[in-house]
Amino acid sequence: MTERARDIAARVETFVRDVVVPYESDTRRDHHGAPMDEMVQEMRSKARAAGVLTPHILPDGSHLTQQETAIVLQKSGLSPLGPLAVNTMAPDEGNMYLLGHEGSPELKERFLKPMIAGEARSAFFMTEPALEGGAGSDPSMMQTTCKLDGNHWVINGRKAFITGAEGAKVGIVMAKADEGACMFLVDLPDPAIRIEHVPNTIDNSMPGGHATVLIDNLRVPADQMLGQAGEGFKYAQIRLSPARLSHCMRWHGSCQRAHEIATDYANRRMAFGKLLVEHEGVGFMLAENMIDLKQAELMIDWCASVLDTGSLGTVESSMTKVAVSEALMRIADRCVQVMGGMGVTDHTIVEQVFREIRAFRIYDGPTEVHKWSLAKKIKRDWKAANPS
Ligand SMILES: Cc1cc2nc3c(=O)[nH]c(=O)nc-3n(C[C@H](O)[C@H](O)[C@H](O)COP(=O)(O)OP(=O)(O)OC[C@H]3O[C@@H](n4cnc5c(N)ncnc54)[C@H](O)[C@@H]3O)c2cc1C
Repeated sequence: MTERARDIAARVETFVRDVVVPYESDTRRDHHGAPMDEMVQEMRSKARAAGVLTPHILPDGSHLTQQETAIVLQKSGLSPLGPLAVNTMAPDEGNMYLLGHEGSPELKERFLKPMIAGEARSAFFMTEPALEGGAGSDPSMMQTTCKLDGNHWVINGRKAFITGAEGAKVGIVMAKADEGACMFLVDLPDPAIRIEHVPNTIDNSMPGGHATVLIDNLRVPADQMLGQAGEGFKYAQIRLSPARLSHCMRWHGSCQRAHEIATDYANRRMAFGKLLVEHEGVGFMLAENMIDLKQAELMIDWCASVLDTGSLGTVESSMTKVAVSEALMRIADRCVQVMGGMGVTDHTIVEQVFREIRAFRIYDGPTEVHKWSLAKKIKRDWKAANPS
């Protein structure tokens, strides 16, 4: 690990533990329980002053390597509020990565710059309402259309689970043209993008929740298309592996903290004449947490090293996303169990981490979809090795 990454990670950890953790009891939450933008901006101004805002992107605009990013984002995740405070949160982090890679200088100046400065939140519009037959696990089912009209594209459709759409200033919208999938950068809010509904969900760390949105004759200037028409799924792939890996990094940090809280509880609480940690049933749960945390960390580091070679890392990120999200679910569940009744209350972040990780097993590809695509690869490889 490089000296610069160690230094940034240490400063992020100190900031999150000393400054962000006290905000966990701040009641400025919206009606879905997510932190309000006013509180986010307050934490960000402190992060800016401490020199830890957007810590994975360097002042010259270059990005830390994925292996370096891993230790920084893990530290940012030590509080569910940490990634918001230091601007390493989804979907902004993945959107910044994509724009940094594929955006023209004009698009970067207009849309990326305010995001890196922590002044603009963004949303990624791909999924569509399930019961209308739209894109979900299978993005090729996309129904939202875009048609060229003069020097504007006209977009129509409905989107679902669009994290942070409410309150975002930048949107990356996916739609289908005759040429294939396209991606557009749009300013938000726009009267042609209407938030229809923000459902109550199991998680609540992401401002704006996960909105269902109607896109009704949205006109986007042609120069706000990202890259080329028909290449949208290619750009989605570029975003996908690092974005799903960064979820692993942040939630690993949160589970590390949940484990610390459960460990503290088990070392203070007595039952049947001895400390909980001295009961084998509890001690073993904490030991299993240690093992899962280390295995998840190594898997993240391995996948990051593959991405750092320039590979898309599709197979490796699928394997890592499954292994890490499932391991983190086990850890969060054990932390709740070790803490008894206290584990299901909002006295600590343990119950929130448990809820958030449950959702993580679905977004950025449900476990079964990753296993299914790995099984397809296994079959392909077998066929290649056995041509007759
Ligand atoms: C909290 C949260 C935030 C999200 N944020 C965004 C966002 O910002 N932008 C965005 O575009 N989308 C977002 N999503 C949507 C997310 O990407 C989808 O939920 C996900 O791709 C699954 O699609 P679906 O919900 O339509 O499930 P479906 O496609 O209906 O699948 C349901 C279940 O079927 C099973 N399944 C599906 N295919 C297979 C298969 N091939 N083999 C075996 N089992 C299978 C899986 O168990 C899966 O969980 C978010 C979702 C959540 C929960």
